[in-house]
Amino acid sequence: MSFEYLGLSDNVLAAVSEAGYTEPTPIQKKTIPSTLQGRDILGIAQTGTGKTASFTLPMIDILSQGRARARMPRSLILEPTRELAAQVEESFDKYGINSKLTCALLIGGTDFKGQVQKLDKGVDVLIATPGRLLDHMERGNVMLTGVELLVVDEADRMLDMGFIPDIERICKMLPKKIQSLFFSATMPPGVKKLTDSFLKDPKEFEVSAPTTTAVTIEQKLVKFRGDDSLKRKVLRHLLDENDIKNAIIFCNRKKEVKIVNKSLNVHKYSSAELHGDLHQDTRMEVLAKFKKGETQILVASDVAARGLDIPDVGHVFNFDVPNIPEDYIHRIGRTGRAGKEGKSFTLSTQYDKKYLDALLKFLKKDIPLLELPENIVKESPKKNQKVNKVKKNYQKDDVKINSEEKVSNKGKKVIVGMGDHVPDFLTR
Ligand code: ADP
Ligand code: MG
Repeated sequence: MSFEYLGLSDNVLAAVSEAGYTEPTPIQKKTIPSTLQGRDILGIAQTGTGKTASFTLPMIDILSQGRARARMPRSLILEPTRELAAQVEESFDKYGINSKLTCALLIGGTDFKGQVQKLDKGVDVLIATPGRLLDHMERGNVMLTGVELLVVDEADRMLDMGFIPDIERICKMLPKKIQSLFFSATMPPGVKKLTDSFLKDPKEFEVSAPTTTAVTIEQKLVKFRGDDSLKRKVLRHLLDENDIKNAIIFCNRKKEVKIVNKSLNVHKYSSAELHGDLHQDTRMEVLAKFKKGETQILVASDVAARGLDIPDVGHVFNFDVPNIPEDYIHRIGRTGRAGKEGKSFTLSTQYDKKYLDALLKFLKKDIPLLELPENIVKESPKKNQKVNKVKKNYQKDDVKINSEEKVSNKGKKVIVGMGDHVPDFLTR
C-alpha cells in the first residue's frame, strides 16, 4: 500500500516522496488515517519504525488551516530529551518543506531570549522538553489555551515518576477539548493505566507487543566474572573483533561513561562522551560529530537511549545491564533502524545479575550467549597477588599517565604523581 491511500495532502505526499519513502511503515498505515479524523491515538511500535512521521505528517495537514497567534502555540509536542526534541524539529523541516508552518524549540541549556522572540511571533508547532516549557509558562511567555493538538512522544517515559508532576502541570493548562497522540515502543502496564486517563476513547494501535525488540537487531549476551577493568578489556576485544563502522556504548552511570570514554581514548579509539553533566552546546557538538562519522564511538548515558535516530549506527554495546528493563529496548533500538541490520552486545558480570534476571524476565526469552576466548576473560586477581598483577594489568589495560601505584601500610592503593586528579577507577 502506498502513502496515497492514507488521506494526506499532495503537499505532504510530495515531501514524503522527496524523503525517499515509498511505503508507509505499519504504524504509519494504522495511525495516520485516524489521526486525520481527529481521534486520540495510542501508538505502540518497535524502535526505528517511523513513529515520528506517524504524528508529524498528519499534523502538518491538520494545522495547515488557521493561523498562529503570539504566545499561543497551536500544537505541542513533548519530548524527554533536548536532543530528541531538536530531532523532531528537523523532521518538521523535512516533512513540512511544502508548508508554511512555524516551529519553535523550547529546550533547556539554550538561548532563552531567542525562544521568547519566536513565541512572540506565534508558532504553529511547539516542541519542548517539560522543564523549559514550564519555565516559559511561569514567566508568561507562552499560554497553552490555544493548543488544539498534543503529542506525547516516548509516552511511558514522559509519564514515569521523574516527569509526571511536570506533565500534569502542563496538561492542566491545556484546553479540555484537544486531540492527543501518544507514542512509544514500550508501555509498562502501570503506565498504560495512566495513559488511558489522558486520552479520550483512543484508537489504540499496537504494531508490536511493548516488550519486543526490533527484529533487525542481532543481540548477544556476554557473560563473565570480573570487575570493571575486565569489562573494559572485554569491550575492547569486542570492538576489535567486530567490523565496527560506528557504535554507541551505554553505561548506567555518568561516572562510568566518563571512565569508559577516557579509557578508550587512551587506547586510541575514536570516542566521545555524551551525558547530562555536559553543557548543551557540547552535547549537540558531540552528537553532530558522531552523526557525521568524525567520532566513531559514542559513550553515553541513557540520555541517548530514547528516540535518537542516527540512521547507520551499526553496533550498540551495553557496558552494564540497564537497571530498567525497558531501557534495554530503547538502547539497542539505536541500531537496526528503518529496516537496517544492527548488532547489540550486552556485558554482564556477577554485579549485573539482579538486573539481568529482571531483563530476561521482562523479555520473556533468552538473549543468545557469546563465548569469549579464555585469554580475554580472566578472573580478577586474588587479594595477595594484587600489587604486581594490578600494576601489570594497569599498564596494559588502563590509563598510564606518569603516575605510580603503591600499596599503603593499611593495604589501601595509593596513586602518586597525579595530585588531586586521580581518576576513581585507578583507585579501585
Ligand atoms: P521511531 O520513532 O519509531 O523509533 P523514527 O520516527 O525515528 O522511528 O524513524 C526511524 C527512521 O525511519 C528515520 O530515519 C526515518 O527517516 C525512517 N522512516 C520513517 N518512515 C519511513 C518510511 N515510510 N519508509 C522508509 N523510512 C522511513
Ligand atoms: Mg521516536
